Amino acid sequence: MPNPLLADWSGPFALPPFAEITDADFAPAFEAALSEARRNIAAIAADPAPPSFANTIEAMEQAEGLLDRVSGVFYNLSGADSTPEREALMRDLAPKMAGFSSEVTMNRPLFQRIDTLWQRRAELGLTAEQARVLELYHKMFLRAGAALNDADAQRMAAIKERLAVLSTAFSQNLLADERSWFRPLSEADLEGLPDFVVAAAREAGRERGQEGPVLTLNRSLIVPFLQFSPKRELREVAYEAWVARGANGGETDNRANAAEILALREERAHLLGFANFAEFKLDDEMAKTPAQVRDLLMRVWAPARRKAEEDAATLTGMMHADGVNGDLEAWDWRYYSEKRRVAEFDFDESLLKPYLSLEAMIGAAFDTAHRLFGLEFRALEGPFYHPDVRGWEVTRNGRHVAVFLGDYFARGSKRSGAWCSAMRSQRKLGGETSAIVVNVCNFTKGDPALLSYDDARTLFHEFGHALHQMLSNVTYQFISGTSVARDFVELPSQLYEHWLEVPEVLQKHARHWQTGAPMPQDLLDKLLAAQTYDQGFATVEYVASALVDLDFHDGPAPRDPMARQAEILAVIGMPHAIRMRHATPHFSHVFSGDGYSSGYYSYMWSEVMDADAFEAFQERGDAFDPETAAKLERYILSAGGSRPADELWLDFRGKKPGVEALLKGRGLLETA
Ligand SMILES: [Zn+2]
Repeated sequence: MPNPLLADWSGPFALPPFAEITDADFAPAFEAALSEARRNIAAIAADPAPPSFANTIEAMEQAEGLLDRVSGVFYNLSGADSTPEREALMRDLAPKMAGFSSEVTMNRPLFQRIDTLWQRRAELGLTAEQARVLELYHKMFLRAGAALNDADAQRMAAIKERLAVLSTAFSQNLLADERSWFRPLSEADLEGLPDFVVAAAREAGRERGQEGPVLTLNRSLIVPFLQFSPKRELREVAYEAWVARGANGGETDNRANAAEILALREERAHLLGFANFAEFKLDDEMAKTPAQVRDLLMRVWAPARRKAEEDAATLTGMMHADGVNGDLEAWDWRYYSEKRRVAEFDFDESLLKPYLSLEAMIGAAFDTAHRLFGLEFRALEGPFYHPDVRGWEVTRNGRHVAVFLGDYFARGSKRSGAWCSAMRSQRKLGGETSAIVVNVCNFTKGDPALLSYDDARTLFHEFGHALHQMLSNVTYQFISGTSVARDFVELPSQLYEHWLEVPEVLQKHARHWQTGAPMPQDLLDKLLAAQTYDQGFATVEYVASALVDLDFHDGPAPRDPMARQAEILAVIGMPHAIRMRHATPHFSHVFSGDGYSSGYYSYMWSEVMDADAFEAFQERGDAFDPETAAKLERYILSAGGSRPADELWLDFRGKKPGVEALLKGRGLLETA
């Protein structure tokens, strides 16, 4: 029987033939797809004809067609429905795929062709989209080091290799520190802890072969412990152990690793002609320069700090009333903040759930997309890649738009978290191709499945990413859908979350699964009011981390990052009872890889935009304003990376995003 991954997919919507694919098909399919891609790339590089956009860039766009198809199916499965065989294949593929990609970017004749096109770009008669695609290909090769001389290319390779070793060590040290520390808890130590914390502590004790419950540094145990334990000395011990991860001396200490990583990154940026690593990193992002990032962070910092100081005064008062004198400390914040939350905002989360059935929330997400963009959803017969997966054809005015798959329930074979991926991306080159998009979540199965409010928000978030893929309307896959800057990609998803907070959406869709009654108004009000609680604290601990990350990479690399971190915190006036969300020795975003280095700001950058984008609807007095929705689709959801993100934003909004909407959304404005 021929390999179904390599055959033509001629079924409805050219979906992968899920029922026919077996695990044994993947390895040979990857082998065939990789060698086809290699042959195609080699043919482009060796083409005797002078380079043209068609014989070079468009040819590259199509060179990896088979590889894209096989990868689309496999990488979705390996995350959503893993097996030991699939994991083994993933380990096996990682170096092969990385090797192939550096083979391409280090192919000198290929780069020559792209560079020639780039030099002659003004004479080529390119469309705006083609010019953008050429620019991005050229940039990708340059940033990978394609234009370096041999000596520099060798040094670059050595730096990358050393960085890979150091970042792996950073993660492993952190894991070792997290695993090795625990503290037995006596029965008296359990005082004040809710049942779920006690149960988690007992489970942690069993895992570690202890008689009784223990406290560990796992975030899901230590954070609620700090929230609920009235034992101040114990909170202090626990907190200090938690923030010492990666800085305990000995073999697992990460401080020297952090310093070496920063120095190597600086050298890498210099080789590529940038003044420092932040300049290199941000050159590819919407923010573009360190100065713009710092400006945004500082505009949020001042009001957040003011709010946090006010809250600190309130919490200190509560602590003194408790008979504890002196300053509020970092190990006191969560405890008194939780007491205050109960007093001021409390409502029973379990009362919400009957109104938030999965069916109702899928309906809410679809209905919102219908009202904004005219999309319609028709359920499809499976089978898909797992019995729990559901599929819909998405249409507009009777015309096919995309296929949407929802894989909502947790299972042992699924990695944690939630994500959106395209099994096939929209493009027009080589024939109109629509997207196949999947949302993967980890909701608890039930009959019916009932969501928490956080779950419902996750469903909306991932559906926002899905819209970015499904509504994409570009010619080239390279810039399709979510192929945009990292600090822009969360805009559609975070923006979509806002519609869940539109009271009429919950009033219409959040209905009791048994009685059909709408959610009671006072519950709805409390739910919406609780969304801004303790945001001074959350914003301060986040922005401080983002500022330290930026400073480390924007200038000469610090020899002693810990000393530099202390200086930065002193300069910005870090409140006494709040520490960085991630201090240097355990700042994985920055040191366990390159992804978020001088990029930790991007969460807030996107939030500034999503808050401001939703404000555009509110200014029109209608969360479903058709004109604003049309602009959102035209300039953002359909545009992919066809133009720089700042230009897309300006066309959508007509002005740069202001921070006011974000401050309002976080409840930080009223103190200004
Ligand atoms: Zn997201």
